[in-house]
This record gives sequence, structure tokens and C-alpha cells, in this order.
Amino acid sequence: MYDIDKIRADFPILERTVYNRPLVYLDNGATTQKPRCVVEAMTEEYYSVNANVHRGVHFLSQKATELHEASRETVRSFINARSINEIVFTRGTTESINLLASCFGDAFMNEGDEVIVSVMEHHSNIVPWQLLAERKGIKLRVIPMTDSGTLMLDEYEKLFNERTRIVSVAHVSNVLGTVNPIKEMVRVAHAHGVPVLVDGAQSTPHFAVDMQLLDCDFFAFSAHKIYGPTGVGVLYGKEEWLDKLPPYQGGGEMIKNVSFEKTTFNELPYKFEAGTPDYIGTHALAVALDYVNKIGMDQIYSHERELTSYAMQQMQQIDGMRIFGTATDKDAVISFLVGNIHHLDMGTLLDRLGIAVRTGHHCAEPLMNRLGIEGTVRASFALYNTKEEVDTLVAGIKRVASMF
Ligand code: PLP
Repeated sequence: MYDIDKIRADFPILERTVYNRPLVYLDNGATTQKPRCVVEAMTEEYYSVNANVHRGVHFLSQKATELHEASRETVRSFINARSINEIVFTRGTTESINLLASCFGDAFMNEGDEVIVSVMEHHSNIVPWQLLAERKGIKLRVIPMTDSGTLMLDEYEKLFNERTRIVSVAHVSNVLGTVNPIKEMVRVAHAHGVPVLVDGAQSTPHFAVDMQLLDCDFFAFSAHKIYGPTGVGVLYGKEEWLDKLPPYQGGGEMIKNVSFEKTTFNELPYKFEAGTPDYIGTHALAVALDYVNKIGMDQIYSHERELTSYAMQQMQQIDGMRIFGTATDKDAVISFLVGNIHHLDMGTLLDRLGIAVRTGHHCAEPLMNRLGIEGTVRASFALYNTKEEVDTLVAGIKRVASMF
């Protein structure tokens, strides 16, 4: 039994009004709202535990370290990694991908080597590789998609050659909602001896992910998109890969011994965690993961899928509606345009009705070019959204359309 009223009561912000209308928050792809337990965990830790982790013999430091390291175990269990050594805390998906591109590029890529990405990537899975291209002369190869927003797997296979060093793809497109067949894509890459990084920013909030099942070599996600705090993320990496990579940043915590002659580096995962980590944030992430686990990722998945297909049905009946992304396996994201109405006008007028959606290129300009548009309006759902909110959105779109 999915008790939506009880769930909504956990999110104080959902009770507020915007322009004297009840808030309808449909910008969850950008960031999710936070349940009371997450906010309270942060306050409580600052009030009663706060001390820097790892370095102290004193009581508070040990308590803070325990919470921080227990969070690593919570993350490990949530994504079913083999070991806590495979869980690196970062600032978010973006930093996780930059870390990997930088370290993997330094260790394993030379001029003329290639990385395979897809046409539907977020800029954070394009630009780090382009920076590497400038630094080392590597090349990007791009998996194309069909008009429905499905990656062309036969074309993907053709991109592999003796210079392919890594594949880096989104699990779920933040614009189209397409769920990419990662397991199959990993199988193909591994058959060519190539590792895979998965951008899980838009998958982790919506369905259970399993590192051992997907068999990907690296996986990145952000806490703030899964009801946790901003400024915290995770890079998962198979231990045998992380062991082979050089450190990312230098500083405290990532070293074993330092002298001016020679510095040796700490063991996994600390080798990649220079400086004071956001230990309040990692604990809050663990509380968020416990929260979604308590509801159940399968229940969240069913609820959001039902909501998405209901919204698709209702929206497709609106005159002039164009929906971008109609793949068979589509997650809780609907990007659209209506007639000639500019996405910014639609977004601004919906906002006046209390409906928060995102407009623009959604940090996916190459995808916009592929679609031949400048931007879209995007409604993205979370575990607390309701059919009534979808009805409000549909009525709002109709009202805005009637004004043009
Ligand atoms: N990748 C995808 C698919 C995203 O949707 C986002 C954020 O919208 C990111 C990466 C970047 O996430 P963050 O800004 O939390 O680092």
C-alpha cells in the first residue's frame, strides 16, 4: 500500500503555496525536495556530534567518523557494490565524472584514443571528456539515437575499434527519460575489453540499481537528486580499476606518508578523498537512502511509472503537444513543447499557476541539436507527486495554450 498522504507529510515544503496557489513541484530531475528526517539528521549532527572525521582520538571525532563510515556501508548496500572500498564520496555526479575522466585519462589514454558517449548525455558527461581531449588529444565518438529517443545499439557496436578505451553513458536521460540498456551495453563493451562508466544521476532516484548485476566498472550519482543534501555524491568503481588509477586531488586524508622526497598514497577509497569530506552530508545521504528503502524502491518505481504513463496519456491529448522521448522503457521525465509557444513562456506562465517545471536545454545542447530545437519544458516526477498534480499540470498547459 503506497500511502502518498503519509509520504507527502514527510516533506514540509510541499505544504507551501507559490503566488497563493498550492505548490506543484515537478522539477525533481533538477533536484528533489528533502524529507524531514534528512534535514533533522543534519541539524542533529551539527548540534551534538560535529567534529572533523578520521583524525581525532576524541569522542566526537570518533562518533562523526562512525557516522561517516557507516554511510559508506549504506551506499554500498544501496547499490549492491562488493566492498566499501569501491565507494568514493565526491561533491556530486559532475565531480565523480570529472574525477574519473581525469584519473582514467591520465592512466590509460593517449593521443588518438577514444571514448564512446551518447548523443543524449548531460554536459557533465561530455565536457570532462572534451577537457581531456584538449589536454591529451583523445577523441569522442557518439552513439546516435532514433527519433523516439532510443540509442541505436547496432551503431554503438560499430564505434568500437582498437583505440576505444572507455564507454561513458547515462543510465537515464534527464531530457527524454529513456532508460538505456546498460547491462547489454556493458556486455558489448566488455567483449571489446573496454570498461564502462554509467551516469546514474537520473536512475538512482527512480529504481533499484545493482552494481553486480549491471557489471559496469564505474557509476556516478548525486545525493540531492535522491532526497539527500546538495554537495555530496558518489563514484563507485570496481576495486581492481580504482587500484590502478592515480589520485585525483592532493591534500590531507589521501596520503599515507608525506615527505619532500616522496609521498605515498592512502588505501581505497581514501586515495580519492583529499581534504575534509562533507561528513554531515554523507550521513544525511545515508538517512535519505534509508528513507527510500523504507518506502521500497520497487514501490517508488511502480508509483512513478503509473504517474508518468497517466501524464503521457493526458498530455498527448492536448492540441499541438509534442513530447520528446517516447522510448518503450521511459522513466519519470516528460519533455514537451506545445505549438509555437516558447518553452520559457510556457514555464513562466505555469510558474504563475504554482507549477514548477524546468525550461531550456537541460544541459544537453547536443541532444537539442539532434532534436532540432532550442529547448523544451520538462516535468519530472518524484515519489511524492500525485495524479491530482498531473491534472493541475495538464489544466495549466491548456490554460497557457489558450492564451496564445
Ligand atoms: N547527469 C545527469 C543525467 C543529470 O541529470 C545531472 C543533473 O541534472 C547531472 C549529470 C549532474 O548532476 P550534478 O549537478 O548533481 O553533479
